[in-house]
Amino acid sequence: MIKIHNLGFPRIGKSRELKFALERYWRGEIDADQLRAVGADLRIRHWHLQAGCGLDYLPVGDFSYYDHVLDTSAMLGALPQRFEWAGGEVDFDTYFRMARGRGADGIGCRALDMTKWFDTNYHYLVPELSPDQVFALSSRRLFDETRELQALGYRPKPVLLGPLSWLWLAKSVGDFDKLSLLERVLPVYRQILQGLAEQGVEWVQIDEPILVLDLPEDWRAALATAYAELQAPAPKLLLTTYFGGLGDNAALACALPVAGLHLDLTRGGGQLDALAELGGGKVLSLGLIDGRNVWRCDLAAALATIDRARRAFQGEVWLAPSCSLLHVPIDLERETGLDPAVKPWLAFAKQKLTELELLRLVLAEGVDAAQPEWDTALAAVAARQRAASLGSGAASLPSGLAGDLDRRASPFPIRRAAQQAELNLPLFPTTTIGSFPQTPEIRKARLDFKRGELADADYRAFMERQIKQCIREQVALGLDVLVHGEPERNDMVEYFGEQLDGFLFTGHGWVQSYGSRCVKPPIIYADVSRPKPMTVAWSRYAQYLTDKPVKGMLTGPVTLLNWSFVRDDQPRAQTAYQLALAIRGEAVDLEKAGIRVIQIDEPAFREGLPLRRADWPDYLDWAARAFRISAGGVGDATQIHTHMCYSEFNDIIAAIAELDADVITIETSRSDMALLDAFGEYRYPNDIGPGVYDIHSPNIPDSAQMLELLTLAARHIPAERLWVNPDCGLKTRQWHEVRSALAAMVVAAAQARREV
Ligand code: GLN
Ligand code: ZN
Repeated sequence: MIKIHNLGFPRIGKSRELKFALERYWRGEIDADQLRAVGADLRIRHWHLQAGCGLDYLPVGDFSYYDHVLDTSAMLGALPQRFEWAGGEVDFDTYFRMARGRGADGIGCRALDMTKWFDTNYHYLVPELSPDQVFALSSRRLFDETRELQALGYRPKPVLLGPLSWLWLAKSVGDFDKLSLLERVLPVYRQILQGLAEQGVEWVQIDEPILVLDLPEDWRAALATAYAELQAPAPKLLLTTYFGGLGDNAALACALPVAGLHLDLTRGGGQLDALAELGGGKVLSLGLIDGRNVWRCDLAAALATIDRARRAFQGEVWLAPSCSLLHVPIDLERETGLDPAVKPWLAFAKQKLTELELLRLVLAEGVDAAQPEWDTALAAVAARQRAASLGSGAASLPSGLAGDLDRRASPFPIRRAAQQAELNLPLFPTTTIGSFPQTPEIRKARLDFKRGELADADYRAFMERQIKQCIREQVALGLDVLVHGEPERNDMVEYFGEQLDGFLFTGHGWVQSYGSRCVKPPIIYADVSRPKPMTVAWSRYAQYLTDKPVKGMLTGPVTLLNWSFVRDDQPRAQTAYQLALAIRGEAVDLEKAGIRVIQIDEPAFREGLPLRRADWPDYLDWAARAFRISAGGVGDATQIHTHMCYSEFNDIIAAIAELDADVITIETSRSDMALLDAFGEYRYPNDIGPGVYDIHSPNIPDSAQMLELLTLAARHIPAERLWVNPDCGLKTRQWHEVRSALAAMVVAAAQARREV
């Protein structure tokens, strides 16, 4: 029978057991042994579950107490000096100190950087490498856990992050080529592989996801030399690639001296054609089940793909999910509140493994042997297809979009004059990004309301009191463009998703974001539309309290898309346009309600960038268009802001200009305005609010320092086009911090008006 396997299972536990155990450990409520016991329990439970789905090999090493890239760094002994690790086995505390930023004395010490794992919403800890870096096997966890699995009588397939991908993801501290460290890393990998061979391991999964990226020539060459060096009679290496197709790396990947190759066929369509290069003695693992999304697999289509693969390749074929299941929730069966018509369309980690088992059964014994599950599976996919074709008609949107739907009536200079006449703002106008402190009372009121313990009218009265207080504070501070403070929102995607048609929310659909942090992304399952206004009542109330302009606050279509599970039966662009129309409707309603400034937040705009450069223009084109559609319904005199809270704009600046927002607020405070180089050089045409202080720190910024930043900013951008604001929302701060920080900011703006 054809073999089935899995690349990795979610670690956090179906009730987020790992999260809660970690947090208790960090608070000192449980000890290391108790935390280890929770880890072991999760691993064993997950192995039993996977074995129950008939997998031939079970992954080990996919479990992590914090992050698998950090695990790899620990295993290789690559710890930055500031953590004062004395060598030997990396213990729990050293491990967590790197993640959480504590020195050996327990005092604050810069944590490892955290960044996105390829194009997923998982974040890994960035390895830091110095030119004199030494490596030594420094964690036995993989060996121990492999033994743990073997003791249960299962066949292990240890998972290693490959040496080239690990190096690629690292950052060099100092001016040197990190690739030069490869020859020092490889001996440790060899030692690990040999150790696993001695434990009787037959197959090791070695992940080299960088094979789906645009790779420089020296990195491609290094892959070839590295794998030639890792070659040994045992264990056999299954080289796994995922998150995309191999593209121009296909011949290279096929030629590497490994025993097997795994392809992500949910993303890299044409890859099977390149397989002629793959030696017949190898194993080809087909990643057929989407490990990045929550939809039930079209098993008939998967069968056809298997058939094509078998025609292109004569050797042994295995079946698997496309990538680790880390990126999906664990078990759909826990969801008791879902619409029974929609629930069968979905598959979480456990259901995905069941799909593999079903595929294998059908291949071995035909569909009759797989009844009734096979018919159920096909019927669910057919029902979903039927429902989509019965959609509201918005599905035909892109072609039906009127040509000028994504254009404001007039170009920026004309709009700017109209807005200035309306708003009459001073030079260096001051504003904030939207949220104000989310106090325990606010959280409690929202929760009570959700549980039905706070009546509608009482909830509204409570929120109005919060808004009134927030407006009062801002007036007293002397800010120019006010906000209502967002007390009614717990999450910027959830708040809108809950009010839009086409979104679905799970009860337990948690996915690890980083460490102990999990998110519960909404699922966009149908055409999106806006049954009624979502924010207008709050904004109207806030505006009624003051003559100063109050900014309406919306989440942009690209962010709503990038932070959700998105339907896969139509292009992402089409879903983005539907979201854009919904937000557009809201913006128009805000304008009708007397709101003169509207901010459409797009913090996730950059996150949606495809892995391959060649795919960037298409994404940037439709993403910018979606934003413009959302902003394009209001009149010239209504000022559109957008906000992005990161500081990498160099490579997407043209697309940012294409958004044509009247004002963009960005993060710059931590980069000393260096980023404005890009905006200045590009001659970015519209207004910019470079964040003048870092809201992530409790420190109160100094007005002299902020004035200096504004002076710097004015060297890159004409002063008439500069705004003054913090670099992100204030919801995680305390009121006393916010009050002092904004007061200092207002002072800095006043000085800038006089001096700059
Ligand atoms: N308006 C949001 C806030 O202030 C923006 C959040 C964000 O940038 N992620 O909280
Ligand atoms: Zn932000």
